[in-house]
Amino acid sequence: MNGRWWKSKTKPNGKKAPAEEKKHYMDPEYTKVRVMDFDLKDLVALPTKEIDLNEWLASNTTTFFNLINLQYSTISEFCTGDTCQAMTACNTIYYWYDERGKKTKCTAPQYVDLVMTFVQKLVTDEDIFPTKYGKDFPNSFESLVKKVCRYLFHVLAHIYWAHFKETVALELQGHLNTLYAHFIVFVREFNLVEPKETCIMDDLSEVLCAPLPPHSHNHVTER
Ligand SMILES: [Zn+2]
Repeated sequence: MNGRWWKSKTKPNGKKAPAEEKKHYMDPEYTKVRVMDFDLKDLVALPTKEIDLNEWLASNTTTFFNLINLQYSTISEFCTGDTCQAMTACNTIYYWYDERGKKTKCTAPQYVDLVMTFVQKLVTDEDIFPTKYGKDFPNSFESLVKKVCRYLFHVLAHIYWAHFKETVALELQGHLNTLYAHFIVFVREFNLVEPKETCIMDDLSEVLCAPLPPHSHNHVTER
């Protein structure tokens, strides 16, 4: 089912869309571009025992929130109630559950807005993400961080499935891939998102998150 979630008026190369185009983001042309030549695991690991795990999770989660919000904002004009009537990625539709646990259907831009508002409120709440020295994290901290990471994953997955072409047109696929790889390695390191949630993007995760071979500094790989 090609082109299910994006509507492109013209194909950039004038070719008819092949079936595999639905995974445009898996094209080696895009995945071969590795911005960082070092092991992402070193970047996400808790630096020393001096740093509290919760502080590390809080600071990284806040950074990912800001970066993913920024990445989404680059394509947000293309993500409308018409183009994206549901929050989709692969064959999954994400539904929003309100504070009373009621399932609600919303368009992708509405869903992203709910996610960003929810996360913004959490990360700026001094009782949940304390920034002052000596202030304790609440017992619910870990489960809230997991919730935030799951929502942020939905946004990234939607960008890949529905707005990758627009990201490429803006030449921001390198940023997106780097952000995605960093995020995935981080959530894996601390078991923050269930594998059953991230499995829809496993093929990309494998390509982008695999450590580079030790002798290879030549990024070009043959198809
Ligand atoms: Zn969209």
